[in-house]
Amino acid sequence: MESFIYEASPGRVVFGVGALDHLPREIEQLGARRALVLSTPQQVELAANLSVRLGHRSVGVYPHAVMHVPVEVAQEAIKETGRLGADCLVAAGGGSTIGLAKAIALQSALPILAVPTTYAGSEMTPIYGLTEAGLKRTGKDRRVLPKTVIYDPCLTLDLPLTISIASGFNALAHAAEALYAENANPIANLMAEEGIRALAHGLPIVKANPRDVGSRSACLYGAWLCGAVLGMSNMALHHKLCHVLGGTWNLPHAETHTVILPHVLAYNATAAPDAMRRLERAMNVPNAATAIFSLMQKLGAPTSLEEIGMKRANLPRAASLVMELPYYNPRPVTYDDLLALLDYAFAGRCPHVG
Ligand code: NAD
Repeated sequence: MESFIYEASPGRVVFGVGALDHLPREIEQLGARRALVLSTPQQVELAANLSVRLGHRSVGVYPHAVMHVPVEVAQEAIKETGRLGADCLVAAGGGSTIGLAKAIALQSALPILAVPTTYAGSEMTPIYGLTEAGLKRTGKDRRVLPKTVIYDPCLTLDLPLTISIASGFNALAHAAEALYAENANPIANLMAEEGIRALAHGLPIVKANPRDVGSRSACLYGAWLCGAVLGMSNMALHHKLCHVLGGTWNLPHAETHTVILPHVLAYNATAAPDAMRRLERAMNVPNAATAIFSLMQKLGAPTSLEEIGMKRANLPRAASLVMELPYYNPRPVTYDDLLALLDYAFAGRCPHVG
């Protein structure tokens, strides 16, 4: 066996149907007395419910999270947190809400308790993002890693189907890329494989019956594992491409990950055979890239960059931006290769393996 470094993320996970009932106990465990509950405007009802459950340990609700954490939004939230004298942040929602909590924690070092309601996985990572003048910058800081995560599958029963499916592929992408990361290790591999298995099993059942608690549990469990491996792995070409496309043209986050995933897998297939074998074993399929693409079609996920708002004329610029500051990738990347990959993804063609 090759040598490796494994760095576990500290953190407490409370998982299961009805886990939200333990919120007051978990806040107490953190020693918090003045929790501020964050959400998007769309999820204010959930945030209000959590605030009621916390009773005197809540200082209120702040329902102003939006995607990609604009710095102005973060600054307002930091001001409000200080004004209310909050000593803990409860992030109730998806990656956008957890992202806002992270931006506040980055400055205040307040502990975060996350209650995720999508499969994005941000709750498991020390990665934060802030958007200023249309440019998203990301960084890593231990202060932003939630101290406690409560996963209650019941909270995902009403996650709209289109978001559920795209978010599921977003999670799959975290795990797939961890399998061939520069710092891949056997423990992360186990978690990634298990996460992929759970999502590949759960998503088709969610598609057929979005309120099926068993498959919602499987997907949330898978999303946890995929988020955890994202947090411990260096990202490669897939995440770089998605950051460029999302950051520069404001394409929707989870959908961009969905469309790009099979094409990067196809591109890396020959350079990362062990990662592909693990993916194929977890999904019980002969070819990872084409199987992911078929699953996308079967589940009604977006398959082309065009349908999620990209313009063909911008593909060369996207390829250039990736080449300017490239990430590690198991297969070396050239401008021409990238343009060809983007062309396939733009048109929504079955990925080119080889
Ligand atoms: P999101 O948080 O923006 O949620 C999408 C929409 O769905 C929102 O309107 C939200 O209120 C709503 N929603 C969420 N859960 C719901 C539920 N259960 N029922 C009904 N509506 C619900 O989307 P996301 O994909 O979870 O997060 C995307 C953001 O997270 C991006 O900014 C991305 O960069 C970031 N992200 C960060 C990391 C990290 O490690 N830092 C990882 C993944 C994603």
